[in-house]
Amino acid sequence: MGVDSMSIETAQQALQKYYGYAEFRSGQKRIISSLLEGRETLGIMPTGGGKSICYQIPALLFEGITLVVSPLISLMKDQVDALNTIGIPAAYINSTLSAGEFQERMRAAREGRLKLLYVAPERLESESFRTRMQSLHISFVAVDEAHCVSQWGHDFRTSYLAVAPFVDSLPQRPLVAAFTATATPEVTQDIVKLLALRDAELFVTGFGRDNLAMSVLRGANKRDFVFDYAQRNTSKPGIIYAATRKEVDELFTAMRRKGLNVGKYHAGMTDEERARNQEDFIYDDIRVMIATNAFGMGIDKSNVRYVIHYNMPKNMEAYVQEAGRAGRDGEPSECILLFNPQDILTQKFLIEQNEGLSPERKKNEYRKLQTMVDYCYTPKCLQGAILDYFGDMQESEPCGKCSSCTDERELVDITTEAQQIFSCIHRMRERFGVTMIASVLKGSRSQKVLQYRFDGLPTYGLMRKSTEKEISDLINVLIAEGYLQLTEGQYPVVKIQAPAVEVLRGERQVFQKVQKQPEAFAAVDETVFEQLRVIRRDLAAKAKVPPYIIFNDATLREMSELKPATEQAMLRIKGIGEVKFRQYGKPFLEFFQHLNEEREFG
Ligand code: ADP
Ligand code: MG
Ligand code: ZN
Repeated sequence: MGVDSMSIETAQQALQKYYGYAEFRSGQKRIISSLLEGRETLGIMPTGGGKSICYQIPALLFEGITLVVSPLISLMKDQVDALNTIGIPAAYINSTLSAGEFQERMRAAREGRLKLLYVAPERLESESFRTRMQSLHISFVAVDEAHCVSQWGHDFRTSYLAVAPFVDSLPQRPLVAAFTATATPEVTQDIVKLLALRDAELFVTGFGRDNLAMSVLRGANKRDFVFDYAQRNTSKPGIIYAATRKEVDELFTAMRRKGLNVGKYHAGMTDEERARNQEDFIYDDIRVMIATNAFGMGIDKSNVRYVIHYNMPKNMEAYVQEAGRAGRDGEPSECILLFNPQDILTQKFLIEQNEGLSPERKKNEYRKLQTMVDYCYTPKCLQGAILDYFGDMQESEPCGKCSSCTDERELVDITTEAQQIFSCIHRMRERFGVTMIASVLKGSRSQKVLQYRFDGLPTYGLMRKSTEKEISDLINVLIAEGYLQLTEGQYPVVKIQAPAVEVLRGERQVFQKVQKQPEAFAAVDETVFEQLRVIRRDLAAKAKVPPYIIFNDATLREMSELKPATEQAMLRIKGIGEVKFRQYGKPFLEFFQHLNEEREFG
């Protein structure tokens, strides 16, 4: 079959016939068309995007044999096994073969019995291998994981530099194509240059994931959020990524204690422990995996329904890769990033700690970190922000389901509250953290507040109508918006920034678009729930029992939704029997009666 007679339709038939897929993904179609037209091509597509098919199908349609350069022995074996099971003749050559096996595969290649031959890049450096290759009809060389050629990539491999000289050594230049998931400009440039691609067509594609609802939550109470989310989604497999081993361990213990079906994974565990947890997760015996970024490489669990980032990752590449582990099966899934300004400091610290980084690369890391932070602040469609970052060519409309797109609330003027906060921080001489500031604004009589005589400040108790948590959240939002800044270190102190000074002078207004919570979380009235927890905690302290003995969270949850203000209504709540009601019901009943009065008169 000559190149002219090949069309995307032929390719589509092969897709159906061999792979059993009815349609190409949009990026695949463009990349394969480009290759079938004989153009050298660089395809950038996220992990799991379907790069293999982009070279396997052309390989199948081209005359002669295709050489696939692949970095890992295990990857090669998997791909070759997969190809053979669908009836495409393929083999690999690497250091694990015996001399006999090697000879047999070379013979199969010479006799035209193979369509694809996978080789490790080191092999291309061998003189005798080059000589052997000269007698084959190689029509196509596909370089997989092509970022390995670049020092800017994350897995630089010197032997990838042998690809271009190898291609030159062939009697006739084959078509050359490269594939990677890494799309930074440095890496892209390096691939084109170091692989010596000729007039390469560049396709960046497939970074949009229609089935994923992305959200960023700023200033949320992370712990409460993940407990709650996991509790409301117990049937769904999910991954929670945290920044450090310590955080993973703590979250794991706390969630276990809540009776949640969780596992954990980080580099500090033994190989066995990790393997067991991973297996349990893959087989759905563990529903939620709490992990550092060590988890996920090469795991193709398709039914992950949510990925929560407990901390902001170091850059967009990492985020998209990790979040992208949700919804591989195309079913609706959620990716939630819990952002806290503290995460920026953590990441900066990690960059500073990394002694292997040259000053130039350090600068590069800081730049990437900033784009990650921008993602956390952007009011634009989050899917669009991802596509923009990766330079994806797909045209995109706002996704309609990310936290930016669904944020329909009107802007609320919170200038007064902001002024109260800024002025309080100023009067406390910018020497305290978020919690202490909130205590003072709340009018707390805690020992520390009294010890510093903050009860004498004119800003003391200015926000007594809000809960301390609400005040802290608002301070966090103001930090996220750049009005305030947290200092580095173990006990970060809140400092006033220039925009806040303008607000204090009355030259600037502050608006807040209260962030909408992701759907599964939206039904909950957090403030009521929080208040119920306080009541429960007091009762528990008096009775000297753990809070969940009084009423469990599910019961509080139902209460917070139904707001029962009579005995009958209270008894209808799951987990409240007559005995418990008699023992503990009264304070809750009074709370709701009071709440209703406030509503009527307030
Ligand atoms: P990558 O190399 O880009 O990480 P793979 O080539 O390994 O991704 O493909 C990831 C998964 O997507 C594989 O299970 C593959 O069979 C599947 N896949 C690829 N193309 C299609 C398609 N057009 N339709 C359905 N599934 C596809
Ligand atoms: Mg691949
Ligand atoms: Zn959107």
